[in-house]
Amino acid sequence: MTHIHRPEVETREPAAQHARDDAAWRRQLRYLFDRSDFYRDKFRAAGVADAASCGGLDELARLPFTEKDEIRRSQAEAPPFGHHLAADPAALQRIYSTSGTTGDPCYMPVTAQDLANWIEISSRSYTAGGLRRGMRVVSTYNAGPFVAGAALDTITALGVCHIPVGTGNTARLVRALQLMRPEALLCTPSYAVHLAEQLAAQGIAADGLGLRRICVAGEPGGGEAQMRGRIEGAFGAMLCEAMGIGDVSISLWGECDAQQGMHFGGGDHVHVELVDPESGAPVEQRDGATGELVYTALTREAVPLARFRSRDHVVWWSSPCACGRTTPRVRCIGRTDDLVIVRGVNVFPSAVRAVAAGFAPQVSGAMVIRPLRRGVRQDPPLPVHVELGPGEAAPPAGLARAIEQAVRATLVASVRVTLVPFGSIGRSEYKTKLLDFGDAT
Ligand SMILES: [Zn+2]
Repeated sequence: MTHIHRPEVETREPAAQHARDDAAWRRQLRYLFDRSDFYRDKFRAAGVADAASCGGLDELARLPFTEKDEIRRSQAEAPPFGHHLAADPAALQRIYSTSGTTGDPCYMPVTAQDLANWIEISSRSYTAGGLRRGMRVVSTYNAGPFVAGAALDTITALGVCHIPVGTGNTARLVRALQLMRPEALLCTPSYAVHLAEQLAAQGIAADGLGLRRICVAGEPGGGEAQMRGRIEGAFGAMLCEAMGIGDVSISLWGECDAQQGMHFGGGDHVHVELVDPESGAPVEQRDGATGELVYTALTREAVPLARFRSRDHVVWWSSPCACGRTTPRVRCIGRTDDLVIVRGVNVFPSAVRAVAAGFAPQVSGAMVIRPLRRGVRQDPPLPVHVELGPGEAAPPAGLARAIEQAVRATLVASVRVTLVPFGSIGRSEYKTKLLDFGDAT
């Protein structure tokens, strides 16, 4: 029997869900016109005078997108929360922030109700991923200032037995796994790979630790067949992927046992669109469609966003799933932030990695693209460093060429592969950097 956190939402007929979400959006629109200076100005500039003339969800595409840069500008103009703060500042319950590597971080305030809704949404995702009351779960996320820290509230709400070990201490994690025998591990896919390598190097059988679930999030990778196979094979456990976006909600998507993509868990709270990343035009939501995800908050109080461009590119499925959920599913292909364009061809580094990883065990799966110039547009061939597998002392003859040809055949992009020794590409205990501009002029 499939365990579903909120069956009345997650198995609802899509048309019935659309009607509920439409009503919620009309309420949220009135709230935006009443409370958000940012959206009142933005919508009026787009020729929409008030909530009543805006229509409902079916008319959503008439409204302009919201870009991350607008949110940054809004916060810079009206610090600390920006013109898009719609709630009474006294009603804020928690304030998350981004890393702010270039200047001030972005602040993401939530009210008590916003936080409760995040916990509801991510509970659907984590339940799809296999977490259950009473299960022992080890997490490697740091609460820190980041939105991802709200996942810890969800773990508590689900009633699992939580063993937090934080990021950056593999020895502590290994001891926790050996002594407390958790059934599930929550980490980034990079870290799962790193951990598998560390365990192998120490002669510890990863598949003897008793883990049944590896729940990954935080970056693309968990959906790539090679990386998934490698992690599942090493630990003898099922891998389930989750994905969220700080500006909208944590863990909006979560993968079920059918492993055919991550289910949308935002019903009643978030509306999702699929658009063409170049033109912004809506893409029909049918099986195999690809596009960028665009989110509209339906119940957000503190900083509600409408038509927010996620920069996450996905493959979409709407057909029924064996688990019984009626919600759509996606698999992430890559993020616009990482995209390079080689002579007009869009290349996601994660896609290059997926192709290169097909040559395992001759390669380790680690890869980094090292462009020769800064910026998105690159000349062919794109330099790619691919790491050899453990035990491959000398590069096998013809391997670099074979990877280059496979990338050309799959991604229509020209790359130049340099094979580098096992362990020479930096491992991350959080998110892996797939683009390195260190050689760029
Ligand atoms: Zn399913």
